[in-house]
Amino acid sequence: MKAYIETSGCQMNENDSERIIYLFEREGYNRTRDIEKSDLIILNTCTVRERAKNRLYGHIGNLKRLKSKNNDILICIGGCIAQNLKERIIEDFPFVDIVFGTHNIAELPDLIKRKIAGGKSICSVRDDGYDPDIFKVKREYDFKAYVPITIGCDNYCSYCIVPFVRGKERSIEKNKIIKNINMLACGGVIEVTLLGQNVNSYGKGLDDKCTFPQLLEEVSDIKKIRRIRFLTSHPKDFSKDITGIMKRRKNLAKHVHLPLQSGSNRILKKMNRLYSREDYLNIISNIKDNIPDCSITTDIIIGFPGEKREDFVKTLDMVKKVRFARAFTFIYSPREGTRAYKFKDCIPMKDKQKWFRELLDIQNMISLEENKKFIGHKFEVLVEGRSKKGTCMMEGRMENNTVVNFRGSAGLIGKILSVKITGAKSFYLMGKLD
Ligand code: SF4
Repeated sequence: MKAYIETSGCQMNENDSERIIYLFEREGYNRTRDIEKSDLIILNTCTVRERAKNRLYGHIGNLKRLKSKNNDILICIGGCIAQNLKERIIEDFPFVDIVFGTHNIAELPDLIKRKIAGGKSICSVRDDGYDPDIFKVKREYDFKAYVPITIGCDNYCSYCIVPFVRGKERSIEKNKIIKNINMLACGGVIEVTLLGQNVNSYGKGLDDKCTFPQLLEEVSDIKKIRRIRFLTSHPKDFSKDITGIMKRRKNLAKHVHLPLQSGSNRILKKMNRLYSREDYLNIISNIKDNIPDCSITTDIIIGFPGEKREDFVKTLDMVKKVRFARAFTFIYSPREGTRAYKFKDCIPMKDKQKWFRELLDIQNMISLEENKKFIGHKFEVLVEGRSKKGTCMMEGRMENNTVVNFRGSAGLIGKILSVKITGAKSFYLMGKLD
C-alpha cells in the first residue's frame, strides 16, 4: 500500500508531516511521491495565508477525479484548514474520507482503520490534544531535525489564525527535549531547529522552571550537535540573554528570524504585536553589537487594514535601517475568526500591490548588497542536497542560513565543508569547494 503526503505552510506543519509519515509507515504504508499511484492521500494544510488555502481548493478537483477512478483510495485532510473548517470540508466535498485536526495526529491510524472497516466519512477535530509521542517522526533528512519545544500560541496577533487552530501555548518538558536531542545526536544528526510559534516564551507553565535561554544553554552542551537554530522569535520576548548565549556558544547558529510585520507603531498596535519600532531597533542593535556576523531575517505584512502610505514608508525605513538578509513579505489577507477580520480595509488592492513591489525591490537590492560582501571569503557549509541550479550542483547552508550552490556530488550530503564564495544573487550564493 502506498501513501502520498503533501505539506503546506510553516516548519511546524513540516514537522507534523514527519510525524504523520512515521505513523503511516508503522501501519505498513510506503511513501510515494506520485499521487496517481497512492492508496492513501493526505493533505496537511495551512490556513495562515490565502495562497495556501487556495492551494487546497486547487487540489480538490484532482482529488475528486482520483476518487471517482478508484473509490478505495482514502483521502484525508489534516492541518490548520481541517482544524478551522472541521465538518464543513466533508459537507462541501463528500468524497473526502477523513478530516483530522492539528491535535489529532496520533489518532490517524485508528481513523484510517475505522474508515476502511466501512461507514461514513469521519471528522475528528479536538481543541487541546497533547501527543506524548510528539518526537516520533520519520525525518526527511538523516543529518538535521526539527525539534518542537512549544505547541500553540497565546499572543493573539489580531491578523493571525494560529492561536485558534493550534490552541494555547504549551511547553514540552526540558528533560524530554534534551533526551530527544541526545538520541538524535547519537543517530548522526548534527543540526537541530527548535520549533515553536514563539520560542522565546518557552517554559511558561512548566513545573520544572526553565526559560528559553536556559534551554538553549543545555542544548548547546550536546557537543555532537554542530548547529542549533530556533524558529520563530517574537520581538516582545526576545531577551538580551539570548544574544549573550549566541555570542558565547559556538554551536548556536548566527541567524535570528525576527518578524517585524510593520515599521509603524500605529499599525503594530492594531496588529496587537506588543512592541514598538524603537523596541525592535534596540533588539537589532544589541544583536549587531554582540554578534556582528549574525544574519537577521524577517516577515512583513503589507496593506494591513487602515495602513496609510506614511505607515508603509515607516516600514521601508525599518528595512533600510536594519538591512535584513532576507524578508518574507506578504500582502495582508483577512482570516475569518480573527480580530482584524472585522477591521475596515479601505486600501485598494492596486495600492497594496504597488507598495509590495516597492518593498520587494528595496529588499532584493539590500539582500544582494549583503550577499556580495561574502564573495572571496570561505565559509562552512552544511550540504543539504542537490541544487536546482544544474546537474552536478549541490546546495547547502552557511551557519547564517544563506543558501550556497556549488559543484559537487551526492556523497557530500550531510557533511559540513569549507566553500569559497565566488558569486552572489539576492537569494543565494555561488561557491567552490575549498
Ligand atoms: S505570535 Fe502572533 S503571528 Fe505568531 S503565531 Fe502567535 S498569534 Fe500568530
